Amino acid sequence: MRPTVCLSVLVLCVARLCLAQDSAAAPAASASTHILVVRARTLIDGTSAQPRANQEILIQGDRITAVYAAGARPPPAGAEVLDLGNSTVLPGLIDCHTHIFLQGEIPAAGGYDIQLLKFPASYRAARAVVAARRALEQGFTTIRDVETEGAGYGDVGIKQAINEGHIPGPRMFVATRAISSTGGYNLEGYAPEIVVPKGAQLIDGPVEARKAAREQLDHGADWIKVYMTHRSWVDEQGALVSQPTLTVEELKAIVDEAHGWRKKVACHAYNGIGLQRALDGGCDSIEHGLELTDAQIAQMVKQGTWLVATLAVYYDDWDAPGTPGGMRDRKRAAVHGVSFQKAVRAGVKIAFGTDVGGFPWSESIAREFPRMIEFGMTPMQAIQAATSRAAELLDQRGKLGTVAPGAYADLVAVEGDPLADIGTLEHVSFVMKSGTVFPAVQRPKPR
Ligand SMILES: [Zn+2]
Repeated sequence: MRPTVCLSVLVLCVARLCLAQDSAAAPAASASTHILVVRARTLIDGTSAQPRANQEILIQGDRITAVYAAGARPPPAGAEVLDLGNSTVLPGLIDCHTHIFLQGEIPAAGGYDIQLLKFPASYRAARAVVAARRALEQGFTTIRDVETEGAGYGDVGIKQAINEGHIPGPRMFVATRAISSTGGYNLEGYAPEIVVPKGAQLIDGPVEARKAAREQLDHGADWIKVYMTHRSWVDEQGALVSQPTLTVEELKAIVDEAHGWRKKVACHAYNGIGLQRALDGGCDSIEHGLELTDAQIAQMVKQGTWLVATLAVYYDDWDAPGTPGGMRDRKRAAVHGVSFQKAVRAGVKIAFGTDVGGFPWSESIAREFPRMIEFGMTPMQAIQAATSRAAELLDQRGKLGTVAPGAYADLVAVEGDPLADIGTLEHVSFVMKSGTVFPAVQRPKPR
């Protein structure tokens, strides 16, 4: 989330692929034996520098087993052939910064606070189910969901329900509760006598920090999310200032614990002291990274720290010009683009992320792509940030974000050429996850 405003198909359904995802009794069993050949007029495979024309993708069960020039070999016996016409086929997209338990932070609708104060857990879970479906239908077959904003371990349950086939959704890497310090997270601004819920687990000192990480890992966190900065404002010199939260010692305890479990740590950090502590404390990914100094960019390159910038969200809902909030909102966007451009040029590892949930799930997730290009990426770099590079961040190289033998059969198709018009990615015409075409609502016909 953005802690400030206080906090916001062409449907191709191949009958035998269409598993009954609304049935509790039908996990992806029948996909395991199904053989399918997908014909692509143009293939962007997620890793190659150039697209390839007229390719066939052989899928067996949930995996891709071969990719070759169309007609180079006959379809295997019993294979189903799915010709996607003139479409461009890409790997399923990956959003590395989502919040399925947030429904935008629209002030008129109660902003961030109402979600924790007035929405029952069941209501938040129901809407998280819809959010997960929204990600998948927009072609995002994998998400890294970086904390539930007061909804506890709800993300672990949604992930389980998706993996067991009860509900449609992307494969999820979850961060559960997130960690910040006292004074370092919402809800805030209430009378001190009133105890209000917090959107993250608040800790003070390395012992509490390590304990929180252990608890979250124990309850199913795939990643640990840490807030290294919280409030931000513009000072009298016109500079963006961000309140730091955890100390380096507190962060090091969390990183040490997570790395011991072979898990990684994502750090929300805007700029200044908090961002420096995030880098010195060994964060694996910097979330947002609004203002990066040259020295910090050099440190990120040296340490191999990832940047998940979430550019587009900082153009939403600016406060009125001339107000403290309005100055802050404009300054954030202004420094962010410059930082991103410098990071691209310096070769910082960049993965696609949006903060969707911070803005409503009814909006386009792929709207992030044009911003990445505006600030220095080529269309192919932006696509790879949401495919093979994102898979690398998630330690899924070769399994996700690529159309190659051994990878999961996660595919999307768009009408047109996304390299010429990146906006086409906002209108996917075909989505497949693990060899199953979405939406999978049609039950196999009884024989
Ligand atoms: Zn966020």
